[in-house]
Formats: sequence, structure tokens, C-alpha cells
Amino acid sequence: MTDFQTKQIRELRMRGVGYRAIASVVGLSRDVVRNYCKSHSLYGYATEFTMNMKEQMQQGKACLCCGKDIKQPNTGRKRKFCSDKCRREWWAAHPDVVQKKETAFYKKACIYCGKPFTVYGNKNRKYCSYECYVHDRFWRAEEGRETYVSPARCEEVNYE
Ligand SMILES: [Zn+2]
Ligand SMILES: [Zn+2]
Repeated sequence: MTDFQTKQIRELRMRGVGYRAIASVVGLSRDVVRNYCKSHSLYGYATEFTMNMKEQMQQGKACLCCGKDIKQPNTGRKRKFCSDKCRREWWAAHPDVVQKKETAFYKKACIYCGKPFTVYGNKNRKYCSYECYVHDRFWRAEEGRETYVSPARCEEVNYE
């Protein structure tokens, strides 16, 4: 059991969520959850009839982290967490999911100086830096591609 799981069990239990629903959210067996609650005096007011908490979370009705109700905005992206704090905690407890997300990072080589760089999201980026972009775009003819751009110089510019 991780710290995050025990915290989730505690918070969901305080909200009157039943053992089975908690178990499905934190990914433990119902017995483990029940034993934990008993040994920590977390009886609360169990409402076993609570709609499966996991379902509520998947539907965006309850915070993925603490199970609190979420008010969805009428427009824009669906919220998964009740607060920034919960979002940070949940992501910190799920590094495996973060790793999957990192496929959004692209490793590229600058077409001007050849230096490798990593770009997040925009896989169409061609240059490691704004400087390289300007050189390639506007000074190419004059430079005849012979001007040496030190890779160290590229590094100084953090162009997003
Ligand atoms: Zn929350
Ligand atoms: Zn470059």
C-alpha cells in the first residue's frame, strides 16, 4: 500500500464511500481496504449504496484524487480534479502515467546547426533555437551555410 493509497482510502472513507467502491478506485482488494479502515478506526458513515466511485470519477463527477464532487465547466476541457493540489498529488502518485505522456516529447536535430534538441508537443519544430531559425531563414544565401554556429551558442537560447 502506498502513501497515496492510504490517503485516498482515508479521504474516500470520510466521504462515506463504501469499501468496495474505495477498493476499485485505489486498486486494492475490498478486504485490504476494510482491514485498513478497521485498524485505523475509519468507520465513518458507510453508504455502500454510493454509486461506484470509480464510475463517478470516470464520468468526471468526482475528483480522481479525493472523490469530492466536481462542478464541470460548461465549456472547455473536462476537469478530473477538484483542485490543483489534488491534480499534483495524483500525478505524483502515478509516475507510470506521466511516462506514457512523455511520448509527446520529440527528439529532433536542428536543421541548421545539427544539434539535437527535445521539443514538447510541437513535432514540426525544426530549429533548436530562435537564432538558428533566423540564420537559416534569412541569412542562408549570404552565409552559404558555411558560417559555423557553435552548439554551445544554441544551448544558450531556450526558444519555445
Ligand atoms: Zn480532490
Ligand atoms: Zn541549432
